[in-house]
Amino acid sequence: GATIGILGGGQLGRMLSVAASRLGFKTHIFEPGANPPAGDVAAQVTTAGYDDLGALTDFASAVDVITYEFENIPTEALNHLEKLRPIRPGREALRVSQDRITEKDFLRDLGLQTAPYMAVDTAEDLDRAIAAIGTPAILKTRRFGYDGKGQARLKSPADAANALADMAGAPAILEGFVDFSHEVSVIGARSASGQVSCFDPGENVHRDGILHTTTVPANLTASQRMDAVLLTANILNALEYVGVMGVELFVTPQGLIVNEIAPRVHNSGHWTQNGCVIDQFEQHIRAVAGWPLGDGTRHADVEMLNLIGDDMDKVPEISAEGNAALHLYGKAEVKAGRKMGHVNRIKKSAG
Ligand code: ATP
Ligand code: MG
Ligand code: MG
Repeated sequence: GATIGILGGGQLGRMLSVAASRLGFKTHIFEPGANPPAGDVAAQVTTAGYDDLGALTDFASAVDVITYEFENIPTEALNHLEKLRPIRPGREALRVSQDRITEKDFLRDLGLQTAPYMAVDTAEDLDRAIAAIGTPAILKTRRFGYDGKGQARLKSPADAANALADMAGAPAILEGFVDFSHEVSVIGARSASGQVSCFDPGENVHRDGILHTTTVPANLTASQRMDAVLLTANILNALEYVGVMGVELFVTPQGLIVNEIAPRVHNSGHWTQNGCVIDQFEQHIRAVAGWPLGDGTRHADVEMLNLIGDDMDKVPEISAEGNAALHLYGKAEVKAGRKMGHVNRIKKSAG
């Protein structure tokens, strides 16, 4: 069988590996850190840095196609890998999503709504951005942010200096604060032949900047749900995307506003593991392997709860619950804010 190379060995890489092996593929993980969660289930692991071109060459030579579980792969490594094997999703999706400015420019060019935004490198830039956008606002690093890291909120212009100091000199973006009623996301997939399929939108609640729960069905009207799915398909087609993508949306009276896109399987799509016949991980592997997409119809109402840090103490109790599927990542060390696992609670069968 074919071997799928995965850049990144965290929990997403682990669950991709499980899905791949169920379809008869082998996976080979490339990960700089020791003892990656995906290492327990992958056929092979390469432990090396993204600057190790020899290790990248050996990795690429040992696989048929390369995919990834995170978007911040260094450009030099990608330049090297793409000469050796196909990378799916392709470079354009990575280029667009690695930087919050290029991402929002891309979304606006597609005619989609985003928060108002301006690039901020200096104190003068920030003053100009505040004058144009107003407060409340959020200053974010343009690159590498996740789980709300690298963000500072400005309640008023007086918060400018502190917020800029939080960026520690990194290029930033000021975003106007969107007054949303709730947050939803769409997990969309596109196959190599251009077939598009989206999972039912999920409603997301964050705590301390980290995803806490995703609930399906989301609280959306039929037309909002249609809009969410169609705009996701637009994004996938514009990028000639191959694989699964997460699209985070703010719901407002003025319509859906795109917060950010993630060119990979997404935490808010974990409910699909127990709410659909084909989940987001299998859907991604199918797309990357050149298969047709599977049937992602939702067959149950589900609440996904992330188990973060000390939430692991609740596992004995949860393990005795009915209609609850635990997914644990096998991480040895419990740390505050660390994603250790999740539970999908089935609320009722759909339809
Ligand atoms: P992720 O872990 O999803 O990649 P991230 O670190 O990239 O997160 P964002 O998704 O940009 O961060 O922001 C985290 C959360 O902060 C959002 O889900 C939303 O609740 C809130 N937020 C971000 N930007 C805005 C905004 N412009 N207006 C209002 N709320 C916002
Ligand atoms: Mg993000
Ligand atoms: Mg986000």
